[in-house]
Amino acid sequence: MESWPIGVFTSVDAGLGVRLDVAHELKIPTVQIHAPHKETRTPAAARDFRARCVTASITVTAVFGGFDGESYADIPTTARTVGLVPRETRAARLAEMTEISDFAKLLACNVVALHIGFVPDRGSSDYRELISSTRDLLDHVAGNGQNLHLETGQESAAHLLEFIHDVDRDNLFINFDPANMILYGSGEPIAALKQVGHLVRSVHCKDARWAAPEKRGREWGTEVALGTGDVGMETYLRTLLELGYDGPLTIEREIPHDRERQKTDISQAVNLLTDLRSKIRGK
Ligand code: MG
Repeated sequence: MESWPIGVFTSVDAGLGVRLDVAHELKIPTVQIHAPHKETRTPAAARDFRARCVTASITVTAVFGGFDGESYADIPTTARTVGLVPRETRAARLAEMTEISDFAKLLACNVVALHIGFVPDRGSSDYRELISSTRDLLDHVAGNGQNLHLETGQESAAHLLEFIHDVDRDNLFINFDPANMILYGSGEPIAALKQVGHLVRSVHCKDARWAAPEKRGREWGTEVALGTGDVGMETYLRTLLELGYDGPLTIEREIPHDRERQKTDISQAVNLLTDLRSKIRGK
């Protein structure tokens, strides 16, 4: 695959991504997909989706897990409901994530990813239990010949590094999302990218504006069209180049309530990334 192929975050039936036909129409060569609901996460659905990707010359580069009961309504609700961190749902979601890994294998995809949730404080019993659960998941994922990428944003770069270090498995990496660092108020995105860069194996191209200083970390920033927010796309891509990253640039635009605008913004994001790529890499 060429360096920095453009990608887009898509959904089969769950999640905030666009449908595969949008990627096809915009001639985008790679997608990450949000795993479908359990009822539709079948071998037949995998065969069908894979066939559609082959027809459209689209490569699936990651399958993201997501779970019923998750809500991103506001930051406290996100902390309470998202990922493997909430204890009440951890065992069931861990089991579901192993099924998602099996589904990804049927798509011939060697990367699964998720928002693990707000990683608890180091040294707490919650933290130790999360490490143990994450290792169980990673061992299953390794059995499928896959890596697991953690989405960034819900904790600082330093805390994410601690967690990955403590989990101590060689198939755990990072999906870096610069906008999430702004949306969650968890750190300046370029500095964070430099800190975790050696573990970054996939990225989101998404943009956002900071919440007012007194609200950061308690209230969301605002997700905006790529190139119009506070990330600084050229600096972001130049930093990825410095780090030696040459994987997909996967566009995310999380406004599923406005499909027309979502498609327009993604089309403009493709143009922006294509221009910046040729400016920065000379091709
Ligand atoms: Mg993201």
